[in-house]
Amino acid sequence: MAHPANASLGRVTRSYAIRTFGCQMNEHDSERIAGLLEADGMARVDDAADADVVVLNTCCIRENADNKLYGTLGNLKALKDRNPGMQIAVAGCLAQKDRDLIREKAGYVDVVFGTHNVGRAVELLDHAAEHGPIVEILEAATIADGEAFPSALPTRREVDHAAWVTIQIGCDNNCAFCIVPAVRGPEISRPFGELVDEVRRLAADGVSEITLLGQNVNSYGRDLALARRAEPSDDDPWMCGSRWTTDRRARPLFADLLREVGEVDGIHRIRYTSPHPKDMRTDTFAAMAEVPEVCEHLHFPLQSGSDRVLAAMHRGYTAARYLEKLAEARATIPGLAVSTDIIVGFPGETDDDFEATLAVAAEAQFDSAFTFIFSPRPGTEAALMEADFVPHAVAVARYERLRVVIERSSIAANQRRIGSIEEVTVEGPSKKDPTVLTGRTRRNVLVHFPSDRPIKVGSYATVKVLEASVNHLKGELVDVTIAARHRTRISVSAG
Ligand code: SF4
Repeated sequence: MAHPANASLGRVTRSYAIRTFGCQMNEHDSERIAGLLEADGMARVDDAADADVVVLNTCCIRENADNKLYGTLGNLKALKDRNPGMQIAVAGCLAQKDRDLIREKAGYVDVVFGTHNVGRAVELLDHAAEHGPIVEILEAATIADGEAFPSALPTRREVDHAAWVTIQIGCDNNCAFCIVPAVRGPEISRPFGELVDEVRRLAADGVSEITLLGQNVNSYGRDLALARRAEPSDDDPWMCGSRWTTDRRARPLFADLLREVGEVDGIHRIRYTSPHPKDMRTDTFAAMAEVPEVCEHLHFPLQSGSDRVLAAMHRGYTAARYLEKLAEARATIPGLAVSTDIIVGFPGETDDDFEATLAVAAEAQFDSAFTFIFSPRPGTEAALMEADFVPHAVAVARYERLRVVIERSSIAANQRRIGSIEEVTVEGPSKKDPTVLTGRTRRNVLVHFPSDRPIKVGSYATVKVLEASVNHLKGELVDVTIAARHRTRISVSAG
């Protein structure tokens, strides 16, 4: 279907729609798929009914991911029956895991590709148009692949002032509940110089906030140690960073990356997600404290407060070690906000185990938490522990008790902000009340505030906090401190 704006000009531009399921890594992959399609001359539409190409970027981490995918595919089939020229592509983690099964269940899907060949989206769609349906799943990515890192591809960012930068793909851990290592492969760090270069390009485009993305960001660079040369060569700073070359350390550290990125002109805020508590190092806390651009927010996944459950999950730390590291982080980084992930009802979790989780959550005084009731993900070790599954009603009751503990510390943390003046990034009108603006503090809390003047999204403002609730703050505008620099829409930025 020709994109209407171009059809009226006599040009026929193909259109695409993309639907993303799952985590930030997937959303970032989708931005890159969109960037590739736009670099190929396609125009984005919101409604799949208007699209020549529909891409579903799937996730197998969330509950019922496969039911959601096949439900969505069923709806698309009706569209494709009416418009046989439409192409349907399924990408992402579930595609990586289910492979041929997707076409067995939904024979009208044209292209299936996985997590390691995002950069082949256009070629695969062209191939399918000419030769028929294709399933292409690679077992692993290598650093030599130009497409190993989604950030190295063209992009179509959802937000103009903020960008994700993938610093690492895959994961070397084996948490019993997690499918990521199976679908994303082993950890591969992106070359240091390439990362810093990308951040410079983004800053030149007007991006002022970046989020460094990886499954275990704090082990960034572990594999780059292999690239160490006996004598520094011109390639070293590119691969491993100039600080590494000077210090002659075995590998670049995540802290080096925070420091280097903090020096890029125009970058005002740096965030990252997610670190693993077992790999969290003192030098990362030091870099967070020293680099003013790094926001004082740490996402620090606890998962459980019971040592027995942590061991069964293969998390590699005890509750006491977790709390020690948390105390060190708070002592090093003034005003630090801490969020976490906790799973309730992991197989074999007893009442005592859960009480331990409640106690750690109360002691940790989290600012916020993503809490989940365990549900088995096919292909994981925990999915095989069926005999130990916790009855759903028990898990729900525990979940409610945990929610109360988390909410207590969340509201207390937010109430402590009343009277303070917070710097916020303006994100636009509030979703619930478009008469007020919404901003995000450095501590990653939303603040709603009225404004007597229009403020461009991506600008920075100061807001005095007047009211606090569990999930947000309310305040009054003090000043606009930095006007947004980005162009209104950057369609494609070559990577
Ligand atoms: S660290 Fe654990 S939870 Fe995180 S991606 Fe790796 S295996 Fe999954």
